[in-house]
Amino acid sequence: MIKTKDIHKSFGALEVLKGIDLSIDKGEVVSIVGPSGAGKTTLLQILGTLSRPTSGEIEIDGVAVHTLSDKNISKFRNTKIGFVFQFHHLLPEFSAFENVCIPGYIAGRERHEVEKRAAELLGMLAMEHRLTHKPAELSGGEQQRVAIARALINSPAVLLADEPSGNLDTKNKEEIHKLFFTLRDTFGQTVVIVTHDEQLAEMSDRKIQMIDGLIRP
Ligand code: ADP
Repeated sequence: MIKTKDIHKSFGALEVLKGIDLSIDKGEVVSIVGPSGAGKTTLLQILGTLSRPTSGEIEIDGVAVHTLSDKNISKFRNTKIGFVFQFHHLLPEFSAFENVCIPGYIAGRERHEVEKRAAELLGMLAMEHRLTHKPAELSGGEQQRVAIARALINSPAVLLADEPSGNLDTKNKEEIHKLFFTLRDTFGQTVVIVTHDEQLAEMSDRKIQMIDGLIRP
C-alpha cells in the first residue's frame, strides 16, 4: 500500500530524513516511535503528501505520488489519505454528523451516499447517540471518534494519525487505540500512527523505531 525509496528531507541546512526505505502492506497497523526530533512527523507528512521529500520516491496505492503535479497531488490526498491529529480541528458550529459528512460533500459525492457512510462509521465508533451534538458538547474521546470518522468518510487507502491519543485520559486512550484495530479488521484499513504510547506501539502489527532521521534496523 505504501512504498518509499531513499526519502530525504532537508529544511535549509538541516537534514531531517536521511534515507527512509519503507514498505507497508494493506491492512497493516504500523506505529512509528522514537525520540522527539527524530523526524517522525516529517515522515508522516510526506506519506500524507502534505510535504514533498527533497529527494526519493514514494508510491501509495499504486500511484507514484512524487511524480504528481501540485493540483493532482491535492486531489490524490483528498480521496486517498485520511488524517487524524492530536487536536481534532472539528468545526465548532456543525454537529458531529455534519463534521463527518463535510469532506464527502467537498469531494463531490452524492449526498445520500455520504450520509449513509457517515452513519455507518459513527455507528461503528459507538457514536450513534451523539449525531446531533456539537463538538463542545462531546467529551475528548468522543471528539476524537468524530475526527476518525471524518478521516474515513471518503474511504481513504491510508489512515495517518499523529499522536491521536496524546490529549486523552487512559480510558479514552485505550478505546481509541482499539478502534484502529477494529478498522483494520472491518475494512482492511491501513493505518500508520506516530505515537509516544508504548502500549499502542506494542499492540501494532509493526513498530518502526526512528532515530535521527533513519529507521533503526
Ligand atoms: P518528531 O516528530 O520525531 O519529533 P519532527 O519531524 O517534528 O520530529 O522534526 C524533526 C526535526 O525537523 C526537528 O529538528 C524540527 O525542528 C525540524 N523541522 C520540522 N519541520 C520543520 C520545518 N517546517 N522547518 C524547519 N525545521 C523543521
